[in-house]
Amino acid sequence: MVSPGQKVVLITGCSSGIGLRIAVMLAKDEKKRYHVIATMRDLKRKDKLVEAAGDTYGKTLSLAVLDVCSDESVKQCINGIENRHVDILINNAGIGLVGPLESISIEEMKKVFETNFFGVVRMIKEVMPDMKKRKDGRIIVVSSVMGLQGVVFNDVYSASKFAMEGFCESLAVQLLKFNVIVSMIEPGPVHTEFEVKMIQEVKQRDFPGADAETVRLFKEVYLPSSVDIFEALGQTPDDIARCTKKVIEASSPRFRNLTNALYTPIVAMKYADETGTMSVHAFYHLLFNLGPLMHVSVMAMKYLTCGCLRRRTISPN
Ligand code: NAD
Repeated sequence: MVSPGQKVVLITGCSSGIGLRIAVMLAKDEKKRYHVIATMRDLKRKDKLVEAAGDTYGKTLSLAVLDVCSDESVKQCINGIENRHVDILINNAGIGLVGPLESISIEEMKKVFETNFFGVVRMIKEVMPDMKKRKDGRIIVVSSVMGLQGVVFNDVYSASKFAMEGFCESLAVQLLKFNVIVSMIEPGPVHTEFEVKMIQEVKQRDFPGADAETVRLFKEVYLPSSVDIFEALGQTPDDIARCTKKVIEASSPRFRNLTNALYTPIVAMKYADETGTMSVHAFYHLLFNLGPLMHVSVMAMKYLTCGCLRRRTISPN
């Protein structure tokens, strides 16, 4: 039951990772300002969430089934909410895809877009009309730094997040007229199942269609530096949840919210050079010419930016 004055928050993809932690953090809000509807495709995967939610489960947190790839599931979920009333929609569900382009089928690419792009569009289309009518609402999208800066061998994942950024940047203007505020959360690497699944999948694949040199670059150059970067700069799902809560609680939230300020220079470099050449060449040199130096720098960063310092890198404010 939603208590008077409580905001109804619907979150997608709550069986693990960032979605789970956002759900729990909001449900445990000391002032009990939120009623969280934590959704997932399969309620058989609810145990971790229920355990983390503790005694908030059944009080400020309830569960619902929702597959962002299904029109029917999205409709059913929203129709199941009292008066279809959602104050805050948090689009978190997403999947990754990494590897040489030649070895990835169009079907796999479509699945990424179906989840990361159309999944969000589907959710927004379902709740936006009521928010516009009420002239009140918040839409939050968990995007990625890769929605602002492309990253080698993440071509399709990055494209799906860029698509989301463009979609939301366009929509945010119209929705502001209706007092519905759109905000993007842009994490860098975060230690979740996302990273684990990526490494497991990559290990199992043999990349048919990709030439030997590309596979070598992927396995021997890209993957080790990706693991280094995750280890050195990776945030926790709680870091992202804290950032999301701050965005929700801000009276005038920013549109873009990088969760890891260590990525600010990369984004600044991109916007400083309208030709785009600087980013392409900087990433090329970093990966292919300065690999060993990058390893040393990233490891140095890991030791210099101890946990407490890294926590302070969370924007906004
Ligand atoms: P995760 O794999 O733990 O969580 C993703 C969740 O989405 C899972 O619970 C999964 O079951 C759910 N999901 C997938 N397809 C779905 C569908 N069709 N319908 C409903 N739910 C579905 O990974 P995470 O890191 O917590 O990812 C959450 C979001 O954060 C994603 O959008 C991801 O792109 C983004 N992100 C993650 C990282 C990272 O390094 N982990 C970095 C930047 C952005």
